[in-house]
Amino acid sequence: MLTPAEADTAIAAALVQVAAEELPLSACAGRVLRREVRAERDAPPFDRVTMDGIAIAGTPADGARRSFRIAGVQAAGTPPLTLRSADECLEVMTGAKLPAGCDTVVPFERIHVADRQATIEPGYLPVPWLHVHRRASDASAGEVLLTAGTRLGAPEIAIAASAGLPRLSVSCRPGIAVISTGDELVEPGLPLRDYQVRRSNSYGLAAALALAGHAPGTDLHLTDDKDKLQRSLAHELDRHDVLVLSGGVSAGRFDHVPAALAALGVQRVFHQVAQRPGRPLWFGTRAPGKLVFALPGNPVSVLVCLSRYVVPALAALSGARPSPPWTVALARPFELQAPLTCFLPVTLRYDQDGRTLAEPRPTRGSGDFISLAGTDGFVELPPGPASHPMGLAVPFHRW
Ligand code: AMP
Ligand code: MG
Repeated sequence: MLTPAEADTAIAAALVQVAAEELPLSACAGRVLRREVRAERDAPPFDRVTMDGIAIAGTPADGARRSFRIAGVQAAGTPPLTLRSADECLEVMTGAKLPAGCDTVVPFERIHVADRQATIEPGYLPVPWLHVHRRASDASAGEVLLTAGTRLGAPEIAIAASAGLPRLSVSCRPGIAVISTGDELVEPGLPLRDYQVRRSNSYGLAAALALAGHAPGTDLHLTDDKDKLQRSLAHELDRHDVLVLSGGVSAGRFDHVPAALAALGVQRVFHQVAQRPGRPLWFGTRAPGKLVFALPGNPVSVLVCLSRYVVPALAALSGARPSPPWTVALARPFELQAPLTCFLPVTLRYDQDGRTLAEPRPTRGSGDFISLAGTDGFVELPPGPASHPMGLAVPFHRW
């Protein structure tokens, strides 16, 4: 049986990067950039005034000239004026290009204006370039601002806009189908018998995918009838890049998912991982680039396996640079008996030094998803038997 780390390696080896598409900037938030973005011009493109005030020439040291005739106004977005004489100044606004011949900006708060004459407040010594954002101080024209593989958040979208690009090359969203299986499951809102249960996994899976920036195209429920299951899976395999199934992968008489997938030519990469919960996890591929994650149906297992394996695989598929693992400290000791990696639900909090602590919130087994309410995710504990001490640094995965 593979360890979780070996399962990661096996999944990574099976991934084929999705195609890229050109999208308008307004549709790029959360997408992965596929082509680098370079600076259109120097940033800033000119010496940019950063305070409303007056612009003057030279440093008026103590005893030097402190009063200037206002010769004009330089607003943002207007061609720059030129200062003609050292006893004159130009009013300047934030965002304006510094007028030619000026190197010093004195904010309005530091001057007194009367009769078109600006006088610097007594005792205030203007500092050259202080309120000027110097040309090219942030980046030079042609410099790489964003590299391929960057996930586009708010700063990156603004940077791309500043580079003059109305559209970006980003990864296409993989086509995902979420498929639940099980004769006992009944849709919320429909009447049910006392031996039936609500179909809840698909909603949890779809929510987790949506929060990770994915939009499953299909939400389907299949019964435990082997032939029907196989027919439906064939159809969904043709229409999607990634199938995320729940249920039907254990050793029960009606767990037909592995056999149905095998019959459809989906190659099993692994079945079972040395972990709890989620041990029966099944993963396979079919060319070209189709992935099937068949998650065990227990509701805690489903959410753990999705966050631990499926969401990172979708990110890698999209060409996203791997983010460094998030490490937190156990808030109290935790005893483990089973010789399996343990995914332990936790709530996060912070100690006085700002260190992130993970408060264990164990469930009563992999069916007890009620206990997950209010948890932030889960930590990954090395296999037991072991007494994991308080303060142990462990990887954390957010739901
Ligand atoms: P299975 O993996 O099909 O053996 O299912 C394991 C357990 O998870 C059973 O108790 C199922 O009723 C439950 N289960 C499976 N799928 C779902 C689902 N979509 N929603 C809620 N519970 C489920
Ligand atoms: Mg089942």
